[in-house]
Amino acid sequence: MYVEKFESISKDDVGIAGGKGANLGELTQAGIPVPPGFIVTAETYNKFMNDTGIFDNIMDILNGIDINNTKELQKSAKKIKEIIIDAPIPEDISALIIEAYNALCQKVGVEDVLVAIRSSATAEDLPEASFAGQQDTFLNIYGSESVIDYVRKCWASLFEARAIFYREENNFEHSKVYIAVVVQEMVESEKAGVMFTVNPSTGEDVALIEGSWGLGEAVVSGSVTPDTYYVDKKSNEVLNFSIADKKVMFEKLPNGETKQVDVPEELRNKRVLSEAELVELTEMGKRIQKHYGAPQDTEWAFYDNTLFMLQSRPITTLDESSSNEKEESDIENREVIVRGLGASPGMAAGTVKIIKKIDELDKIKNGDIMVTTMTTPDMVPAMKRSNGIITDEGGITCHAAIISRELGIPCVVGTGNATEILKENNKVTIDGKKGLVFEGEFQISEENKQDESVVAQSAAPIITVTEVKANVSMPEAAKKAFATGADGVGLLRTEHMMLTAGVHPNKFIQDNREDELVKILMENILKVVDVFYPKPVWYRTLDAPTDEFQTLEGGEEEPHEHNPMLGWRGIRRELDEPEILKAEFKAIKKLYEQGYTNIGVMIPLSQSPDELIKAKKIAEEVGLRPHKDIDFGIMVETPAAALIIEEFIDIGIDFASLGTNDLTQYTLAVDRNNELVAKNYNEEHPAVLKLIERTIRKCNEAGVTSSICGQAGSKPHIVEKLVELGINSVSANTDAVGDVRHTVARSEQKLILDAARKQKK
Ligand code: PEP
Ligand code: MG
Repeated sequence: MYVEKFESISKDDVGIAGGKGANLGELTQAGIPVPPGFIVTAETYNKFMNDTGIFDNIMDILNGIDINNTKELQKSAKKIKEIIIDAPIPEDISALIIEAYNALCQKVGVEDVLVAIRSSATAEDLPEASFAGQQDTFLNIYGSESVIDYVRKCWASLFEARAIFYREENNFEHSKVYIAVVVQEMVESEKAGVMFTVNPSTGEDVALIEGSWGLGEAVVSGSVTPDTYYVDKKSNEVLNFSIADKKVMFEKLPNGETKQVDVPEELRNKRVLSEAELVELTEMGKRIQKHYGAPQDTEWAFYDNTLFMLQSRPITTLDESSSNEKEESDIENREVIVRGLGASPGMAAGTVKIIKKIDELDKIKNGDIMVTTMTTPDMVPAMKRSNGIITDEGGITCHAAIISRELGIPCVVGTGNATEILKENNKVTIDGKKGLVFEGEFQISEENKQDESVVAQSAAPIITVTEVKANVSMPEAAKKAFATGADGVGLLRTEHMMLTAGVHPNKFIQDNREDELVKILMENILKVVDVFYPKPVWYRTLDAPTDEFQTLEGGEEEPHEHNPMLGWRGIRRELDEPEILKAEFKAIKKLYEQGYTNIGVMIPLSQSPDELIKAKKIAEEVGLRPHKDIDFGIMVETPAAALIIEEFIDIGIDFASLGTNDLTQYTLAVDRNNELVAKNYNEEHPAVLKLIERTIRKCNEAGVTSSICGQAGSKPHIVEKLVELGINSVSANTDAVGDVRHTVARSEQKLILDAARKQKK
């Protein structure tokens, strides 16, 4: 059948109705109150494609696509979508859709019922394949003509560039992926929220219900702190509850749009759910859990005092251990002996080893806690052996912080005096999130340790248009970064590659051993570009402040600068010592010739367009053609670069990546490595935000890719702003990729929602 009511669909009909449609049908069939609706089945899409004669045309376009050529992919995707949007829907199909919509209006008792229109994709032979989030959803649609238009838009969204790429990458045949469309009444709830049918973190058999005023969007999107209720499922007794100060809610406007508004004063601190409503919800939760035979994570809404269920899916994150709470209380009873900044999350316990000089590194045995003034690149092998790291100096973007995040080792920086307070061989436990060091060594649950599994968990298959990439500082960490599902590497730092050599790059040049330097660079870059191929990897040319390489062989010749952060680093130094830059470009050229076409070059600490011209010239001298062979871009790390970004654009850049670690320190005059001023270091200072905004805006106007690879890109609430500003990609620490991806997805959905509403005006 081409159009099916929810009543005639069950969970086994994923092939007809897609996952979303099958779920709503299953709930409806089970007698659960679901807002009514119908499904334009996958078969209808198929019929549309064949009857209109556009199928072959579209398949021809798809057959010829090189999905790794982003521009070509985007162009083809646009063309296919236009073909679909322009194709008239055959009358026999449109008549059925109009009939189903009219029947829905009649059922609800209004002339033109407001509906949500959601895509629900499915694959032939593999109905369980997940295409969640790749296709469009449109809210607040009404009128049969509009419904038809938006159904077609959902069909077209099967050919978004990212969806095409995803299918190619995962070997799904385009011709065997179909799309069903769910059309469902939108309910204007007075209160709404979520319900877990067991406690999702302990597995305890109590219903956990969260609720707030207005539409469910407020709770689901996390815009509001909801009331929380725990209800005993045997007695329906409310065991515990907390009433939150609910500041915002979403309302439906007369024109169908939804809008975030302030909760009226008298409702802000008022309890949302009465005892009777909690009992009704709990009973409903028990029914749904029984129906599915497993604990469920559901969404609910009260509309006209009637309960509706909007969604139900299994709880996937049940934590079987309850050791966590015990551990928390253990921690509360311990004495904090040192405080600093939480630089890399996770808990670790071990024996203190204080490193005052580099030749003491052998003291560190597997599982020890390294305590030092500040780490340097040549300490990395010992850092890898450590369970945790504590430093006297540094802010959250210092060397110790960046590296320990990448290694997945808990770290506390900027303590001021850890090397004095802590005693050699003392046992301590550190909390790298809160920035605390406790006396004694205590048990830590697996969940609180930071390890590969934390990263793996974050590799949820969410698809975002804004690319979410990973930063890589150590080539060995590339696999771990790739496992997050990152869309590429937005920053590959060079500094650590020099470590494997233990020799200052200058020394290679002075000793006429340039070939060796090129080889070391090639081997290291290869480890990353190979793992990520064909996803892009932006290699950042050497940017080592003079204090960082002093302990390498040849490093004794490094000048002693009063303020290395403001000194001889980045592109300004590379242009003074072009032989190193040449060696880097030679390494990239060789890899390019071996087929690694996914490398881009990024110039650090750019300050004047002249530097860009010179850097490109050096690349050309070694036979590497910027923009032709490889993408070539700059890091925006100085206010100067942000304020005259147009001039860099005029000369030619493929991308600009915001290095907010440096941009913040140079805008605010705050040394990022100095713990005394760490409290003044603020990436969200209005001045920094203005520079960021300007850069993104100017890049967007010129069609240049904008990105961020500074630590600010690992902070969800900043990322939200960046997505709103229209940034093209965000590159985060490996440990933050999962969270950032969620934030990006949520922010994008919000924008789509806003746009859909505007469209309706
Ligand atoms: C930055 O400055 O934001 C950046 C990413 O570079 P680094 O931290 O290596 O200076
Ligand atoms: Mg920088």
